[in-house]
Amino acid sequence: MIRRASVTPEDAGAQAVLAQALESAGFTVTHLPFGNIENFYAERGAGGPHLCFAGHTDVVPPGPNWRHAPFGGEVADGVLYGRGASDMKGAIAAFAAAAANAPAKDGKISLLITGDEEGEALNGTTKVLDWMAANGKIPDFCLVGEPTSRAVLGDVVKIGRRGSLSATITVTGRQGHVAYPHLADNPLHRLIPALAALTAHELDGGTAWFQPSSLQLTSVDTGNPARNVIPAQATAQLNIRFNNLHSQASLSDWLTEIVASHAPNAALHVTCSGEAFLTQPGPATALLTDSIAHVTGVTPAQETGGGTSDARFIARHCPVAEFGLVGATMHQADECVPVSELLALTAVYQNFIERFA
Ligand SMILES: [Zn+2]
Repeated sequence: MIRRASVTPEDAGAQAVLAQALESAGFTVTHLPFGNIENFYAERGAGGPHLCFAGHTDVVPPGPNWRHAPFGGEVADGVLYGRGASDMKGAIAAFAAAAANAPAKDGKISLLITGDEEGEALNGTTKVLDWMAANGKIPDFCLVGEPTSRAVLGDVVKIGRRGSLSATITVTGRQGHVAYPHLADNPLHRLIPALAALTAHELDGGTAWFQPSSLQLTSVDTGNPARNVIPAQATAQLNIRFNNLHSQASLSDWLTEIVASHAPNAALHVTCSGEAFLTQPGPATALLTDSIAHVTGVTPAQETGGGTSDARFIARHCPVAEFGLVGATMHQADECVPVSELLALTAVYQNFIERFA
């Protein structure tokens, strides 16, 4: 798979390699292309329980300064190099091997494979999930193979993710000479108090599973290079990483209220790339933790930090957790994974598959 240069939105034959391996392990593959993105759903077995593994075969561009060919898939000194080795073709191959090795039993194993995770995520996981829902294929539990491990394989499982919301605030005034402010209207004098009120507010103190939500200003700009001109317009941008005490709707309402009280004519534009979600620890996450500890000797911390992933879409349909390789080299030059770590992850996945019921 690494030798197929599947930089989003290209597939370059990567999914065909995987589909062929799964078919020879007894899986039925349904190709589900949407727009210019290749995706597929594969399943083996029938009835319940239904365990699904979700992964993406697309990768980020290699960038410069590789010592090993980014799409060579070379093994040197027991380490596999290449774009996607860690994020996340390695974990996909580990799960496919684990499923092939696991003895047949009651229930269903499936894979949701997308080629649109590192890109817009518009023609991938969400649309495959819609297809799965329409065809009665929503699983009892979904495991996402993102590289969640931090220092050693097994130290971190993700059971939720924070949400991410961005906002642009634009305040319009009237341009003028700084020496004649009564003839102008300075938009900064309304924008700055609004920003001060927003940053002074503590959104929450965190929860048992999430750190406190955080608002960060990312830009304040007037486009004004002159020291003697009152600008006509001032714009600020901010991002909020929020836990499950908030939502896009509740944060939009709060932003609207605070901004309006300081800058009544301001324009507010909000976009949300993902709501926060949490899979309450339960039997499936306990089993996952147990499989990891059994194979690796490491008891994982259950965390919710970091950026977003496609798990945010899956959480709307079923409980979801993420566990995969050490992510230290993901998106970097010479992305790599020790072969021994791939084999250990395969053993964890196989133990989980065999005990999932
Ligand atoms: Zn990834």
